[in-house]
Amino acid sequence: MSIRENSERVEERIRAACARAERRREEVRLIAVSKTFPVTSIRAAYEAGLRDFGENRVQEAALKIPELGDLAVTWHLIGHLQTNKARRARELFGWIQTVDSPSLAEKLERAARPGANRLPILLEVNLGGEESKYGLSEREVMETAEKIVSLPSLDLRGLMLIPPFFADPEGARPFFRRLCALAAELRAAGFSGVSELSMGMSHDFEAAIEEGATMIRVGTAIFSAREIG
Ligand SMILES: *Cc1c(COP(=O)(O)O)cnc(C)c1O
Repeated sequence: MSIRENSERVEERIRAACARAERRREEVRLIAVSKTFPVTSIRAAYEAGLRDFGENRVQEAALKIPELGDLAVTWHLIGHLQTNKARRARELFGWIQTVDSPSLAEKLERAARPGANRLPILLEVNLGGEESKYGLSEREVMETAEKIVSLPSLDLRGLMLIPPFFADPEGARPFFRRLCALAAELRAAGFSGVSELSMGMSHDFEAAIEEGATMIRVGTAIFSAREIG
């Protein structure tokens, strides 16, 4: 299957999930996760109509993004960001979805150029409490949000989740639901901009859409299987 055919298939799945959930298609942004894939694959996805791309490593993105400067796309960082790469990440990415500590937020703030646009960010939440994963615990989310409010160049827009792995996507559903509730708690506490929910990947994005995802991160269903990464 070509990238175009895969993208069409993903689009059909998104539309079907939106219909089931009585949501409009425009409420869900499809982020094509291009990590490990070459720029030729990204161009093919662009030609198939995709405009948002996700990369998980700054180093890899720094090689690919400049080669694609002629494309009108938005780049999302979806992998863990080390504080010493905050400056480079700010230069490369339009969104940082993986803010997982107050100190990273501060580093991103300090990396802002004078007069820079505010950087849209998401807080990564580790709802499963998994040791192997980055992300804030539920308890830390509120206090981190409070700190970010004092950082003028950052624009807190929502939450991002990588749930524990379940072969059956229904296993992830309670985590998707919880992330949605957590965002509502933040809005009720005065963080009115927390409206984005980045959740759902190739095998479970339908359940995520049904539970309120506004961004889904889809790699293999578009680009086919990764060899590494
Ligand atoms: C790789 C990756 C994805 C995409 O996963 P697929 O199963 O290939 O769709 C989504 N989110 C994050 C954070 C990833 O690292």
